[in-house]
Amino acid sequence: MSTSDPTVKESPAVAETGVGTETILQTRALRKDFGGLTATNDVDFGIDEGELRCLIGPNGAGKSTFVNQLIGRLEPTAGTIYYDGMDITEMPSHERVRKGISIKFQVPSLYQNLSVRENLRIPLQTVVDPSAFDQRVDELLERFHLEGTGDETASSLSHGQQQRLEIAMAMSLEPKLMLLDEPVAGLSVEETAEIAELLRTIRDEDDVAFIVIEHDIDFVESIADRVTVLHQGEIFTEGSIEDVRNDPAVKRIYLGEEQ
Ligand code: ADP
Ligand code: MG
Repeated sequence: MSTSDPTVKESPAVAETGVGTETILQTRALRKDFGGLTATNDVDFGIDEGELRCLIGPNGAGKSTFVNQLIGRLEPTAGTIYYDGMDITEMPSHERVRKGISIKFQVPSLYQNLSVRENLRIPLQTVVDPSAFDQRVDELLERFHLEGTGDETASSLSHGQQQRLEIAMAMSLEPKLMLLDEPVAGLSVEETAEIAELLRTIRDEDDVAFIVIEHDIDFVESIADRVTVLHQGEIFTEGSIEDVRNDPAVKRIYLGEEQ
Protein backbone atom coordinates (compact mmCIF):
# COMPACT_ATOMS: atom_id res chain seq x y z
CA MET A 1 0.00 0.00 0.00
CA SER A 2 1.41 3.40 -0.94
CA THR A 3 1.12 6.14 1.63
CA SER A 4 1.64 8.75 -1.09
CA ASP A 5 -1.88 7.93 -2.31
CA PRO A 6 -3.92 10.78 -0.75
CA THR A 7 -6.94 8.50 -0.27
CA VAL A 8 -4.92 6.18 1.96
CA LYS A 9 -4.66 7.39 5.53
CA GLU A 10 -1.56 6.56 7.49
CA SER A 11 -2.40 4.07 10.20
CA PRO A 12 -1.53 4.99 13.81
CA ALA A 13 1.25 2.39 13.69
CA VAL A 14 2.93 4.10 10.75
CA ALA A 15 2.67 7.46 12.43
CA GLU A 16 3.92 6.10 15.74
CA THR A 17 6.73 3.84 14.62
CA GLY A 18 7.76 5.43 11.35
CA VAL A 19 7.74 2.05 9.61
CA GLY A 20 5.61 0.74 6.78
CA THR A 21 2.26 -0.99 7.20
CA GLU A 22 3.74 -4.30 6.08
CA THR A 23 5.89 -4.43 9.22
CA ILE A 24 4.27 -6.86 11.67
CA LEU A 25 6.72 -6.30 14.53
CA GLN A 26 9.17 -3.54 15.38
CA THR A 27 11.19 -3.04 18.54
CA ARG A 28 12.70 0.29 19.52
CA ALA A 29 15.70 0.40 21.87
CA LEU A 30 14.59 -2.81 23.55
CA ARG A 31 16.72 -3.37 26.60
CA LYS A 32 16.88 -6.05 29.27
CA ASP A 33 19.28 -5.86 32.17
CA PHE A 34 19.86 -8.71 34.59
CA GLY A 35 21.61 -6.91 37.42
CA GLY A 36 24.81 -5.57 35.88
CA LEU A 37 24.49 -7.69 32.72
CA THR A 38 22.77 -6.22 29.65
CA ALA A 39 21.23 -9.18 27.79
CA THR A 40 19.57 -7.11 25.02
CA ASN A 41 21.12 -3.72 24.45
CA ASP A 42 18.77 -1.17 22.83
CA VAL A 43 17.71 -3.48 20.01
CA ASP A 44 15.88 -2.02 16.98
CA PHE A 45 14.53 -5.06 15.17
CA GLY A 46 11.81 -5.21 12.51
CA ILE A 47 10.16 -8.03 10.60
CA ASP A 48 7.59 -7.93 7.78
CA GLU A 49 4.32 -9.83 7.52
CA GLY A 50 4.89 -13.33 6.17
CA GLU A 51 8.68 -13.14 6.44
CA LEU A 52 10.78 -16.00 7.76
CA ARG A 53 13.72 -14.54 9.68
CA CYS A 54 16.40 -16.46 11.47
CA LEU A 55 17.99 -15.00 14.58
CA ILE A 56 21.45 -16.44 15.09
CA GLY A 57 24.39 -15.71 17.33
CA PRO A 58 26.73 -17.39 19.79
CA ASN A 59 25.57 -18.79 23.12
CA GLY A 60 24.61 -16.03 25.51
CA ALA A 61 24.06 -13.49 22.69
CA GLY A 62 20.62 -12.62 24.08
CA LYS A 63 18.44 -14.49 21.57
CA SER A 64 16.12 -16.17 24.08
CA THR A 65 15.94 -13.02 26.20
CA PHE A 66 14.89 -11.07 23.11
CA VAL A 67 12.01 -13.36 22.08
CA ASN A 68 10.89 -13.84 25.68
CA GLN A 69 10.32 -10.08 25.81
CA LEU A 70 8.30 -10.22 22.58
CA ILE A 71 5.89 -12.77 24.05
CA GLY A 72 5.74 -11.00 27.44
CA ARG A 73 7.49 -13.65 29.47
CA LEU A 74 10.20 -11.15 30.42
CA GLU A 75 9.54 -7.50 31.19
CA PRO A 76 11.87 -5.13 29.30
CA THR A 77 14.03 -2.78 31.34
CA ALA A 78 13.44 -0.10 28.68
CA GLY A 79 12.26 0.30 25.12
CA THR A 80 9.12 -0.37 23.12
CA ILE A 81 7.58 -3.26 21.21
CA TYR A 82 5.15 -2.45 18.38
CA TYR A 83 3.11 -5.28 16.90
CA ASP A 84 0.41 -5.08 14.26
CA GLY A 85 -0.16 -1.37 14.80
CA MET A 86 -0.15 -1.52 18.62
CA ASP A 87 2.30 -0.72 21.38
CA ILE A 88 2.29 -4.08 23.20
CA THR A 89 5.18 -3.38 25.59
CA GLU A 90 2.91 -3.56 28.65
CA MET A 91 0.39 -6.07 27.29
CA PRO A 92 0.00 -9.29 29.32
CA SER A 93 1.34 -12.41 27.65
CA HIS A 94 -2.03 -14.16 27.24
CA GLU A 95 -3.41 -11.13 25.43
CA ARG A 96 -0.44 -11.12 23.03
CA VAL A 97 -1.23 -14.76 22.27
CA ARG A 98 -4.86 -13.81 21.59
CA LYS A 99 -3.68 -11.10 19.22
CA GLY A 100 -1.67 -13.61 17.20
CA ILE A 101 1.81 -13.99 18.67
CA SER A 102 2.64 -17.62 19.32
CA ILE A 103 5.79 -19.21 20.67
CA LYS A 104 7.47 -22.57 20.87
CA PHE A 105 9.91 -22.28 23.74
CA GLN A 106 13.41 -23.69 23.85
CA VAL A 107 12.45 -25.97 26.73
CA PRO A 108 9.79 -28.56 25.79
CA SER A 109 6.41 -27.72 27.27
CA LEU A 110 4.28 -30.72 26.32
CA TYR A 111 2.08 -32.49 28.83
CA GLN A 112 4.00 -35.75 28.75
CA ASN A 113 1.27 -37.90 30.34
CA LEU A 114 -1.53 -36.64 28.11
CA SER A 115 -2.25 -37.99 24.64
CA VAL A 116 -1.26 -36.09 21.51
CA ARG A 117 -4.94 -35.27 20.92
CA GLU A 118 -5.33 -33.92 24.47
CA ASN A 119 -2.21 -31.79 24.11
CA LEU A 120 -3.62 -30.22 20.94
CA ARG A 121 -6.91 -29.50 22.69
CA ILE A 122 -5.24 -27.23 25.22
CA PRO A 123 -4.43 -24.36 22.84
CA LEU A 124 -7.37 -25.16 20.53
CA GLN A 125 -9.98 -24.68 23.24
CA THR A 126 -9.06 -20.99 23.40
CA VAL A 127 -9.85 -20.47 19.70
CA VAL A 128 -12.45 -22.96 18.47
CA ASP A 129 -15.84 -24.28 19.54
CA PRO A 130 -15.66 -27.74 21.21
CA SER A 131 -17.78 -29.21 18.40
CA ALA A 132 -14.95 -28.39 15.97
CA PHE A 133 -12.16 -29.97 18.07
CA ASP A 134 -11.96 -33.36 16.44
CA GLN A 135 -11.86 -32.03 12.92
CA ARG A 136 -9.23 -29.40 13.74
CA VAL A 137 -7.13 -31.94 15.62
CA ASP A 138 -7.23 -34.32 12.64
CA GLU A 139 -6.20 -31.50 10.29
CA LEU A 140 -3.28 -30.58 12.55
CA LEU A 141 -2.14 -34.20 12.87
CA GLU A 142 -2.08 -34.53 9.10
CA ARG A 143 -0.40 -31.20 8.44
CA PHE A 144 2.35 -31.81 10.98
CA HIS A 145 2.94 -35.41 9.89
CA LEU A 146 1.63 -36.91 13.13
CA GLU A 147 -1.10 -39.11 11.63
CA GLY A 148 -1.84 -42.17 13.73
CA THR A 149 -0.31 -40.76 16.92
CA GLY A 150 -3.45 -39.02 18.29
CA ASP A 151 -4.11 -41.52 21.07
CA GLU A 152 -0.50 -42.09 22.08
CA THR A 153 0.91 -40.30 25.11
CA ALA A 154 3.24 -37.42 24.28
CA SER A 155 6.02 -39.18 26.21
CA SER A 156 5.96 -42.09 23.75
CA LEU A 157 6.75 -39.86 20.75
CA SER A 158 10.22 -39.52 19.26
CA HIS A 159 12.07 -36.27 19.88
CA GLY A 160 11.31 -35.12 16.32
CA GLN A 161 7.60 -35.91 16.72
CA GLN A 162 7.52 -34.01 20.01
CA GLN A 163 9.01 -30.94 18.32
CA ARG A 164 6.40 -31.19 15.54
CA LEU A 165 3.62 -31.54 18.11
CA GLU A 166 4.80 -28.39 19.87
CA ILE A 167 4.91 -26.47 16.59
CA ALA A 168 1.41 -27.80 15.79
CA MET A 169 0.14 -26.57 19.19
CA ALA A 170 1.59 -23.11 18.58
CA MET A 171 0.28 -23.00 15.00
CA SER A 172 -3.20 -24.15 16.09
CA LEU A 173 -3.72 -20.62 17.40
CA GLU A 174 -3.41 -19.34 13.79
CA PRO A 175 -0.75 -16.78 14.70
CA LYS A 176 0.41 -13.85 12.59
CA LEU A 177 3.82 -14.03 14.23
CA MET A 178 5.38 -17.29 15.29
CA LEU A 179 8.46 -17.45 17.51
CA LEU A 180 10.52 -20.64 17.56
CA ASP A 181 13.42 -20.98 19.97
CA GLU A 182 15.87 -23.63 18.73
CA PRO A 183 13.34 -25.96 17.08
CA VAL A 184 15.96 -28.47 15.90
CA ALA A 185 18.30 -28.56 18.91
CA GLY A 186 19.17 -32.18 19.65
CA LEU A 187 17.43 -33.57 16.55
CA SER A 188 18.96 -35.99 14.06
CA VAL A 189 19.84 -34.93 10.51
CA GLU A 190 16.64 -36.55 9.19
CA GLU A 191 14.44 -34.96 11.86
CA THR A 192 16.06 -31.56 11.19
CA ALA A 193 15.35 -31.89 7.46
CA GLU A 194 11.73 -32.72 8.23
CA ILE A 195 11.29 -29.60 10.40
CA ALA A 196 12.93 -27.47 7.68
CA GLU A 197 10.51 -28.87 5.10
CA LEU A 198 7.58 -28.19 7.42
CA LEU A 199 8.63 -24.57 8.01
CA ARG A 200 9.11 -23.95 4.28
CA THR A 201 5.63 -25.33 3.59
CA ILE A 202 4.01 -23.17 6.28
CA ARG A 203 5.90 -20.10 5.04
CA ASP A 204 4.67 -20.71 1.48
CA GLU A 205 1.07 -21.60 2.36
CA ASP A 206 0.25 -19.30 5.29
CA ASP A 207 0.79 -15.60 5.74
CA VAL A 208 2.60 -16.00 9.02
CA ALA A 209 5.86 -14.30 9.97
CA PHE A 210 8.48 -16.40 11.73
CA ILE A 211 11.37 -15.54 13.99
CA VAL A 212 13.40 -18.71 14.25
CA ILE A 213 16.28 -18.81 16.73
CA GLU A 214 18.83 -21.29 15.59
CA HIS A 215 22.40 -22.33 16.06
CA ASP A 216 22.71 -24.71 13.13
CA ILE A 217 23.83 -22.58 10.17
CA ASP A 218 23.02 -25.31 7.61
CA PHE A 219 19.47 -25.46 8.91
CA VAL A 220 19.28 -21.65 8.73
CA GLU A 221 20.48 -21.75 5.13
CA SER A 222 17.74 -24.23 4.26
CA ILE A 223 14.88 -22.02 5.50
CA ALA A 224 15.72 -18.31 5.93
CA ASP A 225 14.89 -15.32 3.77
CA ARG A 226 17.00 -13.02 5.91
CA VAL A 227 19.21 -13.48 8.92
CA THR A 228 19.84 -11.25 11.91
CA VAL A 229 23.01 -11.88 13.91
CA LEU A 230 22.84 -11.00 17.58
CA HIS A 231 26.08 -10.65 19.53
CA GLN A 232 26.49 -9.48 23.12
CA GLY A 233 22.91 -8.25 23.16
CA GLU A 234 23.20 -6.12 20.01
CA ILE A 235 22.36 -6.57 16.35
CA PHE A 236 25.77 -7.34 14.89
CA THR A 237 24.65 -7.55 11.26
CA GLU A 238 21.61 -8.36 9.11
CA GLY A 239 21.33 -9.64 5.57
CA SER A 240 20.92 -12.60 3.27
CA ILE A 241 22.26 -15.93 4.47
CA GLU A 242 25.03 -15.76 1.84
CA ASP A 243 26.18 -12.33 3.01
CA VAL A 244 26.13 -13.36 6.64
CA ARG A 245 27.79 -16.70 6.07
CA ASN A 246 30.67 -15.13 4.12
CA ASP A 247 31.18 -12.24 6.54
CA PRO A 248 34.61 -12.68 8.19
CA ALA A 249 33.46 -10.69 11.24
CA VAL A 250 30.57 -13.13 11.79
CA LYS A 251 32.99 -16.05 11.52
CA ARG A 252 35.16 -14.41 14.15
CA ILE A 253 32.40 -14.06 16.73
CA TYR A 254 31.51 -17.74 16.31
CA LEU A 255 35.17 -18.76 16.54
CA GLY A 256 35.50 -16.66 19.67
CA GLU A 257 32.87 -18.87 21.26
CA GLU A 258 35.04 -21.96 20.78
CA GLN A 259 38.21 -20.53 22.26
P1 ADP B 1 21.02 -17.01 24.05
O1 ADP B 1 19.60 -17.47 23.98
O2 ADP B 1 21.46 -16.19 22.88
O3 ADP B 1 21.98 -18.15 24.27
P2 ADP B 1 20.19 -15.73 26.53
O4 ADP B 1 19.17 -14.74 26.10
O5 ADP B 1 19.70 -17.00 27.12
O6 ADP B 1 21.19 -16.05 25.30
O7 ADP B 1 21.16 -15.06 27.57
C1 ADP B 1 21.75 -13.78 27.35
C2 ADP B 1 22.56 -13.41 28.58
O8 ADP B 1 21.67 -13.13 29.65
C3 ADP B 1 23.47 -14.52 29.07
O9 ADP B 1 24.66 -13.91 29.58
C4 ADP B 1 22.68 -15.18 30.17
O10 ADP B 1 23.52 -15.75 31.13
C5 ADP B 1 21.91 -13.99 30.75
N1 ADP B 1 20.60 -14.38 31.30
C6 ADP B 1 19.57 -14.95 30.61
N2 ADP B 1 18.51 -15.14 31.40
C7 ADP B 1 18.86 -14.69 32.63
C8 ADP B 1 18.18 -14.60 33.90
N3 ADP B 1 16.92 -15.02 34.04
N4 ADP B 1 18.86 -14.08 34.94
C9 ADP B 1 20.14 -13.64 34.80
N5 ADP B 1 20.83 -13.69 33.64
C10 ADP B 1 20.20 -14.20 32.57
MG1 MG C 1 18.71 -19.41 24.05
